[in-house]
Amino acid sequence: MPAASVYWACAANLPSKGAPCLPHSSVRSIPIAVAHAPADSAGGALSRLGQAMRRHQRVILALQWVVVVVYALLVTVPAFLPLPAQDARILDNLRLFAQFLFWGVWWPFVMLATMLLGRVWCGVFCPEGTLTELASRHGLGRAIPRWLRWRGWPFTAFVCTTVYGQLVSVYEYPQAALLVLGGSTLAAVAVGLVYGRGSRVWCRYLCPANGVFGLLAKVAPLHFAVDEARWKQHLGRAPAVNCAPLIDIAHMKSASACHACGRCSGERGAVALALRSPAKEILSTSARQVKTEEALTLLVGVMGVATAAFMWSSSKRLVAIKTALANWLIEHDYTALLQDNAPWWLLTHYPQAHDVFTWLDGLCILGFIVGGGGALGLALWLLMWLAARALGTPEVTWQRLSLGLVPMAGVGVFLGLSMLTLGHLKAEGVSLIWVPVVRAALLLLGGVFSAYLIARLCWTGRSLRTAGATLLALAPLALALGVWIRALFGA
Ligand code: SF4
Repeated sequence: MPAASVYWACAANLPSKGAPCLPHSSVRSIPIAVAHAPADSAGGALSRLGQAMRRHQRVILALQWVVVVVYALLVTVPAFLPLPAQDARILDNLRLFAQFLFWGVWWPFVMLATMLLGRVWCGVFCPEGTLTELASRHGLGRAIPRWLRWRGWPFTAFVCTTVYGQLVSVYEYPQAALLVLGGSTLAAVAVGLVYGRGSRVWCRYLCPANGVFGLLAKVAPLHFAVDEARWKQHLGRAPAVNCAPLIDIAHMKSASACHACGRCSGERGAVALALRSPAKEILSTSARQVKTEEALTLLVGVMGVATAAFMWSSSKRLVAIKTALANWLIEHDYTALLQDNAPWWLLTHYPQAHDVFTWLDGLCILGFIVGGGGALGLALWLLMWLAARALGTPEVTWQRLSLGLVPMAGVGVFLGLSMLTLGHLKAEGVSLIWVPVVRAALLLLGGVFSAYLIARLCWTGRSLRTAGATLLALAPLALALGVWIRALFGA
């Protein structure tokens, strides 16, 4: 078998016809012959789709490499192109095209897709996932150290990337996009080269989007369902599945960590792609299973810091505060903070585009996003904590109650990211008359879904106490809705 075919087969987890499968003998492949769909869903189209994903891993791998090439081109090339002319359009200017594709289409619709299909982006398309897994096949294969397993990484990485991205204007300038996205990709490859064997240690523990993807996937109606009893009943030995994000598949109860790659579909007749109620996972998760870090990523990271990151550029209050501070600094002859000599990789610095941040700009933006967003997140947390205390049921903790806000958080992230999409479309002369209706419908959908989840989580019995706690638990939802309504409709 030619070397390239061996690599291709091994990378796709297919049998390599006796040829050695890369230097790591521990890279595990899935013999297709042992895969059976669960009997009760064998005829289901979804189950067959899952099986097809498993059978056609080579096709998925080919697709992943196409994405890697397109991603590499769109991240690097625009960074070396001049500023677009005033009358440049998305379709005739690569800088604008890449900017629109990355931030106007890719990012908001990946979030939406995760809420609808689970983490298919991660398992089937993500270039970082592909590269880190490849690196991990050829790397040192070291065991994953404790520091890397720290549960606070998703929160920390998400907040740091969000804040830094705003300071360097990652959505506007391809140099900043190359720094943030390219830096993240290099880090993913470096982690793959050192840790794990044919796995995605980066994706599982360090990827800045891991936390938000894991939260949004909880409401996805599509998931790989595991029948634990059937798994245990399976007689005979079956080779382990190479689950790249290192999931204990037999006990997988959540779509949070699953990359929906399909490699385990039909395994031991116990795994199948299936539909579920979007409310099922959040309602059935026990208090013990919801980690504090996960709940804080939702409340403080996604609903606090990320919301503030979407809103700082249109905040009149921020402009007023900045102007007052600038006046005060001038009056007192402290002008160092009014200098605009920060490098572009620290603060936005594009004089040719008349877009330069002073140190004061940077501090004000930082204060707005971290201070304002953090305060919003802590207010949401406090209300949830009070609601859980008022309820007084050990099984309904504030962490578990917080998960009721996932639909609202998902809608918020989509609306925030789609502001960029709409900005591009407006510049192209596309009519946006439909936007307010769609925005209102999405807020209504997210709000009603979250209200339903919170009410179901709180409703532990008919009593005044339960009713009061339910109302209190709905307060964070009202607060988040109020923030978005004010930002989008100026009400
Ligand atoms: S459990 Fe692992 S192997 Fe199975 S679909 Fe999810 S990520 Fe893929």
